[in-house]
Formats: sequence, structure tokens, C-alpha cells
Amino acid sequence: MSVEGQVAENLARVRGRIAAACGRVGRDPSEVALVAVTKYGELEWVRALVAAGAHDLGESRPQQLVARAVELALPVRWHLIGHLQRNKVKLVLPHTCLIHSVDSLRLLESISQQAGERGQPARVLLELHLSGEAAKDGFDKNELLSIWDQARALPHVQIEGLMTMAAYATDPEDARPTFAALSALRDELRSRSPATCPLKHLSMGMSGDFEIAVEEGATIVRVGSALWEGLATAEGHG
Ligand SMILES: *Cc1c(COP(=O)(O)O)cnc(C)c1O
Repeated sequence: MSVEGQVAENLARVRGRIAAACGRVGRDPSEVALVAVTKYGELEWVRALVAAGAHDLGESRPQQLVARAVELALPVRWHLIGHLQRNKVKLVLPHTCLIHSVDSLRLLESISQQAGERGQPARVLLELHLSGEAAKDGFDKNELLSIWDQARALPHVQIEGLMTMAAYATDPEDARPTFAALSALRDELRSRSPATCPLKHLSMGMSGDFEIAVEEGATIVRVGSALWEGLATAEGHG
């Protein structure tokens, strides 16, 4: 099959699985945005994905996001989903519609400052580390609760929700408690915040567990590998 045909088929299959998961819990599929994670995709595949109808693309490395946004110049929204160092904030802001991976108050302060200098508020999600795995990025729950008022007071960031990654597991069901915990935390933060901070997004779910995430309330899933099935790279990953 051609790259275009394979990518279009993969995209349709992932969308079908999202819709089926929505159906199981009575959600409308239009409530769930698919961010197609392109970090393992070759440029040709990414072009094919956009031709097949993807609008939201995600990269985990700031430099690669910027390089691809500039080189591809596609009519898409780029999402930064991986760790951001403060010295890269200025680089990524002009190219990024939503930063999913804010994992410290200092980073959030830098984003607010740079966004203020650009004259355009930055849309962000706060990354939570809920799976109990060591060495993962993200706030833990108590840390987030303790900085929440300071975070909300920053003038040039819009905190639109929360993001998490479940621990790697062979059974996707193992991710369910992590996703349920993110949703519960969102509800808790909402109850302490005025309506001006609706925390509309839960960014959770990857190729191995996105259906469980949808069942637990994800509004954004970040799917990479499942979109590249049947395609082979020269380096052998994907
Ligand atoms: C790579 C990555 C994804 C996509 O992972 P797949 O398993 O390839 O779907 C999602 N979220 C983050 C933060 C990632 O780094």
C-alpha cells in the first residue's frame, strides 16, 4: 500500500477506536481531539497524515517541533508534549498552540513572561505525575495544590487543563486509575477556582491506552505509533 493509503487507513482506524470508546461511555466523539504525535514519523508520513485530515500535530522535543513547523509549513496546530527547558520557551512560543508539559512553577513563570513580551497569552496544560513511577516529569498532586494560587495569578498564561502519562504497562486497564486520578484532580481544582478557570482539557492516553483514557474523560489523546503501523523507517523504529 502507498504511504498515503496506509496513513489514511491508520488515522481512520484510530478515529474509529476513539468513537467506539466514546460510545461505550455515552460521550460525543467531537469532545475528544486527536493530537497526532509525529516524533517518530518521517516528513513524508506527516504530510500524508495532514492530507488525510489531521489538524493537530504533537512533538516532544522543542527544537524538532520548531524545525518541522518551519520546514513543513502546514496548516496545522502544533502541540508541545515533551519536557521544555526555560531557555527554549522563547523559541517554541511562536510555533505552539498548546504546551501540554508544564512541570514547574518556574517554567510557567518563564512562559508567562515571554508570552507577555510577545503580547499574546500562552495556552498551557500542567503535567501531573500520578503513576507512582520515579523519574517522570510533572507535578505531584500536593505540589500542584500548593502552587495552584500562584500559577493562576500569572498574567499571560491560560491554564486550560491537565496532562499526564500512565506508567508503561502491557495491560491498558492498568492505566485506568491514573487517568481517573487526573480527572478527579481536575474536579478538585475546579471546585476551588472561579469560573474564569474552567480547566476544560484532560490530555491523556497514548497508543497503548487511549481508549481507556477516553472512557475516563480525556478531551485530548496523544497518539503516535498507532498512526504509523505498517510503515517502516530506514532506522527501523516507528
Ligand atoms: C511519544 C509520546 C506520545 C505518543 O506515544 P505513542 O505510544 O507513540 O502513541 C504521547 N505523549 C507523549 C508525552 C509522548 O512523549
